[in-house]
Amino acid sequence: MYVNGIKTYFNLKSNLKKPLSELKEMQWRSFRDLVEFAYRQVSIYRHHFAKTGFSLENLRDPSDIPNVPTTTKSLFQQADAQDLISDQLHIEKLVRKRTSGSSGSPLDVYYTPEDRIYRTILHLRILFYNGMRFRDKMAHISDDRNVPDFRYSFQRLGFLPKEFVYAADSAGDQLDRLAAIDPAVIYSYASSMVLLASEVETQGSCPIKPKIIFTTGELLNSDDRALIERAFSTKIRDIYGVVEMADVAWECPAGEGYHINIDSFHVEVLNDGKPALPGEPGKLVITNLHSYAMPFIRYEVGDVVTAPIDDPCSCGCTFPRIGVLQGRADDWLYKADGSKVSPLIFVVASIKGVLQYRMIQKAYDQLAVEILPGPDYTDDTLPDVKKHVLEVMGSGVNVEVVKVDIIPQKSGKMRRVISEIESSP
Ligand SMILES: [Zn+2]
Repeated sequence: MYVNGIKTYFNLKSNLKKPLSELKEMQWRSFRDLVEFAYRQVSIYRHHFAKTGFSLENLRDPSDIPNVPTTTKSLFQQADAQDLISDQLHIEKLVRKRTSGSSGSPLDVYYTPEDRIYRTILHLRILFYNGMRFRDKMAHISDDRNVPDFRYSFQRLGFLPKEFVYAADSAGDQLDRLAAIDPAVIYSYASSMVLLASEVETQGSCPIKPKIIFTTGELLNSDDRALIERAFSTKIRDIYGVVEMADVAWECPAGEGYHINIDSFHVEVLNDGKPALPGEPGKLVITNLHSYAMPFIRYEVGDVVTAPIDDPCSCGCTFPRIGVLQGRADDWLYKADGSKVSPLIFVVASIKGVLQYRMIQKAYDQLAVEILPGPDYTDDTLPDVKKHVLEVMGSGVNVEVVKVDIIPQKSGKMRRVISEIESSP
């Protein structure tokens, strides 16, 4: 397995500097193969294509790509899981990942064990390209208190060592733990790093000296970036991931936008259904070229980015670059003692029976959680949600969990977390 993994890594690494025309040709072939596959072997696409009048004759060259109908999360959510998956595969043999993303409404995504390894390698390519080394110790600031026991055998040999820090602990405790780990690399949600950076500024000195901080999630704006980089005296490399897929785009050392993983994804940026001009904002539509278990073809992600620029980047990578328009969609929450909590560290949407959720903090000690029940809702759902929210928020906050029939949504993205506390930024 490792031999194949290493081979895949070096193949992917060699793609970083291939001529763009060659990469685009490769990308087109992968796109067409995936659409053909889905047309023949995946029930939901057979129906979706038939309903929209698309057939394979409508896809002869890259200019025909807009003929392929787009897909959405709600299309997938309404389908039976087996209909989303290749006829050739059994659902029990696949890796299942429940995702919620920023919409607060979950979708189960299935992929093969091989594809999981591919995603990991794709992730490592970003880390290595940005200067991480094989023996660098990473601190992963995680929303999971139960740190996985699992270690790859190469990790037991001291390669890619990784330690976890629980993001809901107090910022002071997290910093103490980071000081004990002494990481070369940090991987974290941007919002968790903002809290840690504020704590560093309060304490007046930083106990660690990481060489790179990788952030992910959607909360990084320029003020937050500056704060984190100042507090830790290092650069951030932000990674743009789509929870249903993997790492789609990433910042390089030159800091001139986010390189699209063009060998693994086909990315479109659309304005009123038409391609936006390079550099112009539009809606992101992505095809995951490796999603053969559960294909994602022209999937409307719901994020707004700037359209790809093909000009070569000064870092030497030929992958086109998009601009990620990062805005803070959700408010911060506060613990009873007034310390901030990142909205990203809640995993409410992964709890069985939750279709959508929304949290409204009315005061430091008052938090309401609204749950829109899903088909697998049981009497345990609300107590399970309460237990999780209390675990993150700590004592002193009165958490009220209620079942609702509808969660109001303004145009665009739903806000999962609303703070009515005046001091909220
Ligand atoms: Zn670059």
